[in-house]
Amino acid sequence: MDLLFVRGLVAAEDGEPAPLEVGVAGGRIVALGHELPRDGAAVVDCGGLWLLPGLIDVHTHLDLSANGARTRDGFTAGSVAALAGGVTTVLDFAAPEPGQGLVEATRHRREAMAAAMAVDFGLHTVVPGQGPDDLSGAFADLLRLGVGSVKVFTTYPGLASDDRRLLAILRAAAATGMLVEVHAETDALVQDATGALAAAGRTSLAWHAHARPPAAEVEAVGRLLAFAAVTGAELYFVHLSTGAAARLVGDARRRGRAVTGETCPHYLFLDAGRYQGPEPERYLMTPPLRPPAVQQALRRELERGSLSVAASDHCGYSLDQRRGLPLGQAPPGIPGVGMLFPLLYTELVARGGWPLGRLLALLAGNPARVFGLPGKGRVAVGADADLVLFDPGARWTAGDAGSGGVPGYTPYAGWEMRGRVAAVWLRGRPVYGPGAEAVPGQGRWVPQRRRKGVGGCGTW
Ligand SMILES: [Zn+2]
Repeated sequence: MDLLFVRGLVAAEDGEPAPLEVGVAGGRIVALGHELPRDGAAVVDCGGLWLLPGLIDVHTHLDLSANGARTRDGFTAGSVAALAGGVTTVLDFAAPEPGQGLVEATRHRREAMAAAMAVDFGLHTVVPGQGPDDLSGAFADLLRLGVGSVKVFTTYPGLASDDRRLLAILRAAAATGMLVEVHAETDALVQDATGALAAAGRTSLAWHAHARPPAAEVEAVGRLLAFAAVTGAELYFVHLSTGAAARLVGDARRRGRAVTGETCPHYLFLDAGRYQGPEPERYLMTPPLRPPAVQQALRRELERGSLSVAASDHCGYSLDQRRGLPLGQAPPGIPGVGMLFPLLYTELVARGGWPLGRLLALLAGNPARVFGLPGKGRVAVGADADLVLFDPGARWTAGDAGSGGVPGYTPYAGWEMRGRVAAVWLRGRPVYGPGAEAVPGQGRWVPQRRRKGVGGCGTW
């Protein structure tokens, strides 16, 4: 045994902290129990704090370049921000350049990340709006590479696939066992709303929520659910922002359909009133923040168990990259990988009364099951020793400098937070906390090994 964690309250199995010792060898958890033999292992005294599984953020955009704007934090800085929030694995996106194949784009991004990441990582591959329709061969190659999920868009020029292409992609996915992630916003409804606003001279970021109405999300989700029923494809809806869409997904899943979805902290805790304030650029992401009634309905669906995963949709543009720019020119996306767990813990567990295990299901257990990461997301013998020492009694205030990472801001500046990540180990190696070091390139590629049927992923 290399490492022995003692005097910790460990979130194993059901995720509720209980006294347990954790033995680690070769980067994996090899023993759980009481009074484990010391065996010359280095002892880590948890001092009564909680020991959690390393968390998984399945939706990040590190080092993203889109429409000529490049995010401020790259793979290393984004990894360091992740570790501060207890995230030890991220799933990011590989998007092909024009003319580039899916597999080539994915290999290329994987290599770039391998040199720089300080947390473990996997990739989803973006399927652009144009290209060959027979994707079965490419999907089979991606699955061999360890990519089990592709992303399609229903909006954005160049990225959006029309209905005919969506059906072809879903058929290829069903044939190969690929999971299809959907950015659900029907472009015609977005264009219609944006055009009406432009005609009225309403092009500032104050109108962002109006430009992308809730109906666009609800319509796209309903349509894709119908396409999935026809093709047999398994679907995962990213960043759901409306209660109505979350309900459609949850109802389908409760009927046994292999579909599920995620939401993000900003849709749960912030509303569209922020766009009327002095700094709308601080809240610019797509889909936009929603009116309070829509936001509250989303929260109710989360409570009902309609969604399985919470993720950050981290995207590290800085405020000065979009301040003063009109709608359509300001690059959207907010930093959030480091605030994902702190926010959800504070609002849902410390203030909301959720059992810790229920939150860990959204951030660790379910992401690992949905995306096929068997070594991740649990404190169990055989799993990677990705461990987070968490002090539930700590209090701190989120701030632009401390919590915003390299992009330099967080939408939650000034928020009072409960509990704090004290230290993190990645495969048994101390990577965050006193005496720990995050080394670029220490993050390893994590292949997805999906089993068909995401509908079976627990009852949360
Ligand atoms: Zn995203």
